[in-house]
Amino acid sequence: MDLVIRGGTVVTAGGSFQADVGIAHGEIVDLGELADDVPSIDATGRFVLPGAVDVHTHLRLPTMDAPDRLYQDTVAAAFGGTTTVLTFIEQPRGGSPLETLATWRQEAAPEAAVDYGFHVILTDVSERALAEVPQIIAAGCPTFKGFMVYEDLRIDDADLLRLFRLTAGHGGMMMVHCENRVLLEDGIARHVAAGETAPKFHALSRPPLVEAEATYRAICMARSVKAPLYVVHLSCKEALHHVREAKALGLAIFAETCPHYLTLSEDRYEAPDDEAARYVISPPLRARAQHEHLWNAIAAGQLDCVGSDHVPRTRSDERAKGLTRFVDIPNGAPGIETRVPLVYDSGVIGGELSLERFVDVVATAPATLFGLDRKGAVEVGHDADLVIWDPDRDWEIRQESLHHSADFTPYEGRRVRGAPSHVLLRGKEIVSDGRFVGQRGGGHFQERKLSVRG
Ligand code: MN
Ligand code: MN
Repeated sequence: MDLVIRGGTVVTAGGSFQADVGIAHGEIVDLGELADDVPSIDATGRFVLPGAVDVHTHLRLPTMDAPDRLYQDTVAAAFGGTTTVLTFIEQPRGGSPLETLATWRQEAAPEAAVDYGFHVILTDVSERALAEVPQIIAAGCPTFKGFMVYEDLRIDDADLLRLFRLTAGHGGMMMVHCENRVLLEDGIARHVAAGETAPKFHALSRPPLVEAEATYRAICMARSVKAPLYVVHLSCKEALHHVREAKALGLAIFAETCPHYLTLSEDRYEAPDDEAARYVISPPLRARAQHEHLWNAIAAGQLDCVGSDHVPRTRSDERAKGLTRFVDIPNGAPGIETRVPLVYDSGVIGGELSLERFVDVVATAPATLFGLDRKGAVEVGHDADLVIWDPDRDWEIRQESLHHSADFTPYEGRRVRGAPSHVLLRGKEIVSDGRFVGQRGGGHFQERKLSVRG
């Protein structure tokens, strides 16, 4: 053995137990009471968790944006206990999704500080794009995204249906951003026409019904062609209702929520406009009463995963460009580093989730659903991606102490309990007592194959 994590409480989705964790050549090779003649890290009084998996991130290549972004945001992931990220990459309309994937593979490799993989966003369904989908699945990227809204990304229902059928037929899965375009555009137009352009009108233009109808429509399409579906960023009980119903029928319908829908609410839009602009996120923050529905659904297994929907926005750029109307403000907020601590603090400390269910929704379930067979569990034969979690650490989330490439956090000033003290990627420490000790380019591309079928 190369290393032993000694004296901690191992937490898995199935149960918790006292055990040392033995590591050799990057893998977990033994669990139990292990001999003390190898180098070790003391985890006494702490939890040993699987490295968390974030399947919903929007990372950026250094060539696309400010330098160092993919490196910086994957370092931030590591500090937050996340050792594998899946990120969305966008097929340019009229362009080749396969070329998009090749570019990203090449440019991400020297940057990524944690393990990674991709989901291609399909923005048009040309013959070329359709022909390339099976090749992308065969290349280890079997999950794709379709948008029902956003002028530059959306595909229509007929194309979405074709993609459900095609991806499912080759062992893939669609992830869908579910909002009703007609209702949304009408809501936006009404507010803009009335001169109502402050950030709070972002939320008022896309109420729960806009999300719920589209969620149900996506479920119906997936169901009709026996395709699996992953509903991204579900925010409200109205959409949850349809997911719950689909699961009760035994359909391969999966859904994710995000920390901001569990911990923040629409009262944030009452802040002064410049601050409220931080929360221009889609779907928008909802009523506080939604929180308990989402927590209950996670606890009951009706929501499968918690993803960050990390978008490394820079508010200073937006201010410099004078973007103040809600329609002009780019959507999204950073969360790659705060995801796991927030779910632990609000979920486990808050009495909403067991420790095991927490591990499941941030690590095990996303690894299992997305074909990351070596990730997400503290088990012999898995990669030694491990987090030593200090359950007593009391800290305050502040932009100046985070590591992401965004210039704000939606959680500024929030106190949380629990944080990683050490993070290991394939047996090597990458975070040690508040310092990054990993490598730029140390992350490996993960070839994935799904086991879910419609
Ligand atoms: Mn989205
Ligand atoms: Mn997103």
